[in-house]
This record gives sequence, structure tokens and C-alpha cells, in this order.
Amino acid sequence: MDDLQFGTRDKRGNWAPAKPLEIAPFWLGKWSALGRWLIAYLWPHNAIFMAITLAYMYFVLPPVEVMKTFGWEWVLRIHAVNAGGVFLLYGSVEFFYYVRRKQGTRFKYNAKFPSENPSDVFWFKSQNIDNFLRTFFISIPLWTAVECFTLWCFANGIGNWVDPAEHPYWIAALILLAPALHEVHFFCIHWAIHQPPLYKWIHSIHHNSINPSPWSSMSMHPVEAFAFFAEMLWHLLIPSAPIAALFQLTSTAYGAIVGHIGFDKLEVTEGQAVDSHAYTHYLHHKYFEVNYGGDGLIPLDKWFGTWHDGTKAADEQMKERFRRKKDRMAAKTPAE
Ligand SMILES: [Zn+2]
Ligand SMILES: [Zn+2]
Repeated sequence: MDDLQFGTRDKRGNWAPAKPLEIAPFWLGKWSALGRWLIAYLWPHNAIFMAITLAYMYFVLPPVEVMKTFGWEWVLRIHAVNAGGVFLLYGSVEFFYYVRRKQGTRFKYNAKFPSENPSDVFWFKSQNIDNFLRTFFISIPLWTAVECFTLWCFANGIGNWVDPAEHPYWIAALILLAPALHEVHFFCIHWAIHQPPLYKWIHSIHHNSINPSPWSSMSMHPVEAFAFFAEMLWHLLIPSAPIAALFQLTSTAYGAIVGHIGFDKLEVTEGQAVDSHAYTHYLHHKYFEVNYGGDGLIPLDKWFGTWHDGTKAADEQMKERFRRKKDRMAAKTPAE
């Protein structure tokens, strides 16, 4: 596909989409865009996460009786599926688009591939090895821990669990609103770990990947990984059911790849491509202090003035904000 029909490429070969990022249309009163937005909201990302959730419910989780007590057998089984699932999903995007490079740099925001930039900030000087090891030895075990703890709570009646058969509309609404809860939770923890000194201690590890690839998605400090997956614990407080809680976690865990794909579209056939929805978070990795949240379902970035839609105007606004911040810092520091 000709990516220049959809965007521009600069002198260094970095590609950017022509269309600015937009927050959800109902915040802008663009009611005519609602239908198309709703379809993109459901398909394909959230439909895939729901299919994965159902697969866990029916094929992976043991009977409730078993989950009443922690046991290596069921915990390790869930862990093996989590690790295997990430290996398959993240690994196949990495393999086809970063190793085999099936579409070259078409629709790729950064013209370079991480493997071309060895750096001392990474274990073994390799972004890929570093990110891969952190994913499998830090983040996925914490994901499993939060998941099994929540399931154990459910099995023991700890929390506000309701029967979906008795409250079908509430549970359906909760599932539909799970991405909104995700955006608010993620914005809050993400903004917090960008503040000093947390940034240096915790979040700088994730930001070592300025040019992220799928393995960067879960490359996190343990504190960040725990806070990230702890999103599922909200379902102990709000009236919920396992399917909604699990969907929350599944879409967080498997969805972490979305912002780190590095390509704006993934080509399926010669003339067909799917939108990756990766640009919002790509800009965060590029500029750090913008787009702390997601796509603007709950546009906290817009409300707090940290939204970057990829346009020149947003660039100017961001630079102005950085200038003001620098001035404030200089005013606070006494002259020597
Ligand atoms: Zn990231
Ligand atoms: Zn960040």
C-alpha cells in the first residue's frame, strides 16, 4: 500500500499520519461520527479481548471450588496461558513486522528498527532482549498474581460480586465501560509515575524504549507493572462479575501492545490494512509529557492540557508548556 496517501514522511524517513488524532466524538458534539466511532470501538480490538476473556472463562479457569484455596496447579496453569498468550500475540507482531519486516517501513512512525540501535541503557545492550526478559520475568508474573488473587477473592465471596443472570444490564454496561475505567486508571497511575522522583525510580525503565516495539509494551519496573494490572482490583469494590473483571484485565494485558506497535496501519492484503491505534501512545514515547492516557474515550489529557494530536499546533502548544515549566523551575532555583 502507498502510505503517502495517508500521511507524510520526513527527511529521516519517519512517517506521520495526515489526520490529527481525535477524542471520542460525543465530547465534541460530532453526533454524525458516532456510528463509525462505535464500530471502531467494538471492532476489532475489544471484540478480540472479549473472545480471549471467554476462552479464559471456559477453557482456563478451574471450578470455583478449586479457586477457594491457592494451589500451584491452577495458578501455574493460568500463568502458563498468560505467558503463552503474550508470546503468541506480541511475538507474532514482533516476528512479522520487526524481524521479517513484512511491510518494511510503510506506515512506520520511526524509520529505524530497535535492533539497529544498541544502547547501554538496556540489559545486554539490546532493547529486544531487555524488554523480552522484563516482560516474562517481571510483568507477566505480577499479572498472574493480581488475576489469581482476584479470582480467589471471588471464590471466597470477598468483594461486591453479583450474579450476571440477575443483573445482566449492569454487567453488560460494566463491560462496555471497562475501557473507560482503564483510561482513567491508566492516566492516573501513569501521570503519577511521571512525577519526580518516581519517574527516575520507576517509569524511566519503560521510557528507555524511545522507539517502542511490541516487546516494549510490558517492559516495566515491578511497581509500575503491579499498578498497571491492579486495575482489575476495582472490580472488588464495584458490583461486578468475573467476566467483567477478567475482561478488564485481559484488555489491559493483551491491549498493552496497542500503543507499542510502531506502525499506524498493519497491512493485511495489498489494498487492505487495519488501524493500529498506536499513534497516541507513540507520541507519548516520543515527547514524554503528553498523552498520559489513551485514545480520548475519557479525554483527561485534553482536560489537563497534555493532549497531543500530532499536528504542528499541538507541537507549538507543547513547546510553550515546556517553556513555562522551565521558567517555573528556574524561578524556584535560587541564583548562584
Ligand atoms: Zn509505553
Ligand atoms: Zn510514560
